[in-house]
Amino acid sequence: RKIELGSKEQSAELEQLARAFNQMIEKLDRTFARQRQFVADASHELKTPLTVISSYANMLKRWGRDDQNVRDEAVEAIAKESQRLQNLTKSMLMLAEAEQEDWLKLESFDLVHLADETADMLHATFQRMIRVHTPKTDVKMMADKDKIRQLLVILLDNAIKYSKEPIDIIISVTKGTVRLSVADKGIGIPEHDMPHLFERFFRVDGARSRSTGGVGLGLSIAKRIVDLHEGQIDVFSKPDKGTTITVVLPHKK
Ligand code: ADP
Repeated sequence: RKIELGSKEQSAELEQLARAFNQMIEKLDRTFARQRQFVADASHELKTPLTVISSYANMLKRWGRDDQNVRDEAVEAIAKESQRLQNLTKSMLMLAEAEQEDWLKLESFDLVHLADETADMLHATFQRMIRVHTPKTDVKMMADKDKIRQLLVILLDNAIKYSKEPIDIIISVTKGTVRLSVADKGIGIPEHDMPHLFERFFRVDGARSRSTGGVGLGLSIAKRIVDLHEGQIDVFSKPDKGTTITVVLPHKK
């Protein structure tokens, strides 16, 4: 289509183009700002355990030879903080991977079978009872099986960390959607913290979460996985009563 130079039509087209260009720049700006924030937060998170490790190593060097108590304390702290660094880097890699990919490895699988398998695996590791409630039939679905497993592990891992009672996985199918909930009767989440749960590195209580080995990335990864599947994730929680996290996914077969 030919547009005459200097015509009204041309200036309208140019204006539209400029607007689209500005929107693109704004989006890029937001992405860069998010990346910068992530690098700053990640560096801070890495610095804390590294500082502890290096202080205890110095303590060992100075007094470790003569003092058994110093040796025990230092070795324990170094082991704990190294484990924390390991959790942190593992979660950061997982998040980077989930954010980088905007495609899914779709395959057909039975969600009930996957839930049973994941529950058995975590039961064997943590010795916690995990009950799986499912419809009478299997729930065949088309999704990224590895990512859905990862999502389940994150939700169950949190339920194990923040509760002591048995945990329930509830699966149901309604009108073109699959609903998957993980419910615990644990410490719950205060109302004012709810809006921040999916932010990277957010923890309700830094000290409490640190002692359980939490790094504050699990739910960001979970949200990314759900977004990739065009689903929705919601948290219902009451302090001292428990937490239920529900994921609703489109039921593609
Ligand atoms: P973390 O690795 O610290 O568990 P997450 O991103 O998975 O990080 O969760 C963010 C925060 O939300 C946690 O630090 C914890 O305070 C809170 N949280 C998540 N799941 C639960 C749960 N089932 N019960 C209580 N608190 C939870």
